Amino acid sequence: MDLYEHQAREVFKGYGIAVPDAAVVDHPREARHAAELLGGRVVVKAQVKTGGRGKAGGVKLAADPAAAELTARQILGMDIKGHTVRRVMLAQSVDIQEEYYVSYVLDRAAGTFLAIASAEGGMDIEAVAAARPEAVARIPIDPAEGVTEAKAAEIAAAAGLPAETADVLARLWQVLVGEDALLVEVNPLVRTTDGAILALDGKVTVDDNARFRQARWGERSEARDPDGDPLEVAAAARGLTYVKLDGEVGVIGNGAGLVMSTLDVVAGRGARPANFLDIGGGASAQVMADGLDVILSDPDVKAVLVNVFGGITACDAVAEGIVRALETVHLTQPLVVRLDGNNAARGRAILDARAHPLVEQATTMDGAAARAAELATR
Ligand code: GDP
Ligand code: MN
Repeated sequence: MDLYEHQAREVFKGYGIAVPDAAVVDHPREARHAAELLGGRVVVKAQVKTGGRGKAGGVKLAADPAAAELTARQILGMDIKGHTVRRVMLAQSVDIQEEYYVSYVLDRAAGTFLAIASAEGGMDIEAVAAARPEAVARIPIDPAEGVTEAKAAEIAAAAGLPAETADVLARLWQVLVGEDALLVEVNPLVRTTDGAILALDGKVTVDDNARFRQARWGERSEARDPDGDPLEVAAAARGLTYVKLDGEVGVIGNGAGLVMSTLDVVAGRGARPANFLDIGGGASAQVMADGLDVILSDPDVKAVLVNVFGGITACDAVAEGIVRALETVHLTQPLVVRLDGNNAARGRAILDARAHPLVEQATTMDGAAARAAELATR
């Protein structure tokens, strides 16, 4: 999961990295008020989980609170690479003398972490790296040793950064370790005209596998993420993996492999998946009911294909989940169910007994996909 810039800023602050004072708002009028509290001259910054906001017009200086309101009005609602701006951060404007780039990233190929740093930070580090790779220092970090004072000084020297940046480099490593992050990036890290070193922009990607030991992530969960697809948010809240696509067949399956091949078979039968939902390996009746509820909330869905191979999850439990879902969810689109594997016969019998007019069964995956495609595209 990527954090928003304003969340990264809070995290940095917690680790003693200097950041400008800031506030997050979702309305232009609040922007004026926030700018007043911040001393008038501010930077208005779109909060979207994508880079290159500056180039896209999503980062603008405002000389006073009235200008901040006007600028916030322009930026709020803007589309930046497919992300709608729903909130802006107002940060106290600083006078920049130099802009640097610093990051730590997991280098999977090398099997270790890498410090990447450059004295030529700012908007376009990729262009710098492509044109003049020697301007970007890349230094492996032994995760067991971490970034000691000496290592931080080595990184700063290799990148041509002033020695005062070493303290931030050491703290940024603490962010990576303490937050279970796969990436921490500051671009730009700046030296102001009065010599302070400040993190002006931050990107933090946390490792979702560490959720179990990062209790405070709940506060920044997708459920509060105005950027996320509302159904993906609803599914995540129920512990389900739901992905929105742009076709017309809703797909529910158990296990990533089966779900992926179901998508292919639907496509092979001339329809396009509208979404898919993986109810996982040990799905209960309740999970099935939740899953159908999520899939049927997608207005693009013209037919639903449930493809379950019973293993740990027995087919009768899945069938009971479907029956339970039919009690609470008002089915408006046809549902094609293919049950195979553990307790398939019992599962099929449960659905036959329910005899819902919109529910059909198929015995093979291909047959089920063909029927769902036919129903969705007729
Ligand atoms: P990005 O384009 O998404 O990476 O957004 P950044 O937050 O990195 O901002 C882009 C650029 O705006 C920075 O590289 C700075 O040059 C400039 N900028 C950001 N904050 C300030 C500020 O407080 N004062 C000044 N003068 N420029 C700023
Ligand atoms: Mn930046």
